[in-house]
Amino acid sequence: MRSTTPVTFPDLILDPAADNYAVVGNPIAHSKSPLIHRLFAQQTGQRLHYQAVLVPPGQFAAALDRFQELGGKGLNITLPFKEEAWAAATNRSTRAEHCRSINTLWFDNAGQRCGETTDGLGLTRDLARLGMEVRGRQVLILGAGGAVRGVLADILALAPSRLVIANRTISRATELLRQLGAGDGAQACGYEALAGGKFDLIINGTSMVLHGELPPLPAGILAPGGACYDMVYGNAPTVFCRWARDQHAALISDGLGMLVEQAAESFRIWRGVRPETAVVMAQLRSAAG
Ligand code: NAP
Repeated sequence: MRSTTPVTFPDLILDPAADNYAVVGNPIAHSKSPLIHRLFAQQTGQRLHYQAVLVPPGQFAAALDRFQELGGKGLNITLPFKEEAWAAATNRSTRAEHCRSINTLWFDNAGQRCGETTDGLGLTRDLARLGMEVRGRQVLILGAGGAVRGVLADILALAPSRLVIANRTISRATELLRQLGAGDGAQACGYEALAGGKFDLIINGTSMVLHGELPPLPAGILAPGGACYDMVYGNAPTVFCRWARDQHAALISDGLGMLVEQAAESFRIWRGVRPETAVVMAQLRSAAG
C-alpha cells in the first residue's frame, strides 16, 4: 500500500489496483489514520489503499457520492462530518442510531450505505487494556461534544455506579443524557458543581485540552487510587495528564490507544480481520519520539 499526503476533494483519485479506503474531515492533515491503517494492512497482509481527504464545508455529500461512484470500499469520517455521515447512511447500527454519529461507513452488495460508530468501543477497549475500571465506579466525563456523544452509550453499558457529565454549556450535557435515555444514576452539571465530589475515573472529552487549557476543575475531586483518561493525545503529556499527575492519579493515559482501537474496529468491519493493536500503539509512540 502506498503512503499518501492529503488530497482535497474533488481531486480524488483511487488506486485501481487495490481496495480503496479514506478518512474524510476538515482539517485532516494531522490525521494518523492513514499511518495506522497502513500498519494494520502490513500486519495482516491485506492489499489496500487508504488516503486522507480534505473535504470543504458543505461538500461531504458530494464527496461521498464521488467516492462510491469511483468504487471506494469504505470511509472513516472525522470532524465536522460525523452527523452528516449519520444522515447519509441508510443502514445504521443500533449504537450509531443512539449516538446520531458515524465514523465508519461502507457499502453493501446492493450499494446501500452502512454506518457504525467505533469510538465508544475504542475507548472501552483501551480502558480495559489499561485496567481502568468503569463497572460499579463513580465516573466523571468532562465535555459534551461529538467525542462524548460517540462514547457515552458504551460507557453507560459498563454500568458505572454514578456517571456525571460536566460541561461549560450544561444544557448540551443534559440533552445528551436525555437522548441516550440515561437513568437516574447519570447527571449533568457545570464545573463548579463538582466541588466536594469524588470520582474513581475522570475522562476528558473537551477540545480545549488540545490548546493546552483545562476546564476549571475543583481540587480534590479524584478519589484516592483514581484514574484519569484523556481522549486527546499528543507527542508530549497533555495538560490534563499533567493535572492528573498533580492529583496523584494511580493510572493516567492519553487517547492514543482509543484512536488505535477505534481504527482496529473499523478495519475489522471492512476486512473481516482484527489487527493486533498493542504493536501498532508501540510503533506510533516510537515514531512520535
Ligand atoms: P466538540 O464537539 O467541538 O466539543 C468540544 C467540547 O469541549 C465541548 O464539550 C465544549 O464545551 C468543550 N470546550 C471547548 N472549549 C472550551 C472552553 N474554552 N471552556 C470549556 N469547555 C470548552 O469536539 P469533540 O468532537 O467532542 O472533540 C473533543 C476532543 O476529543 C478533541 O480534542 C478530539 O481530538 C478528541 N477525540 C479523540 C478521539 C480518540 O480517538 N482519541 C476520538 C474523538 C475525539 P461546550 O459544549 O460548552 O462548547
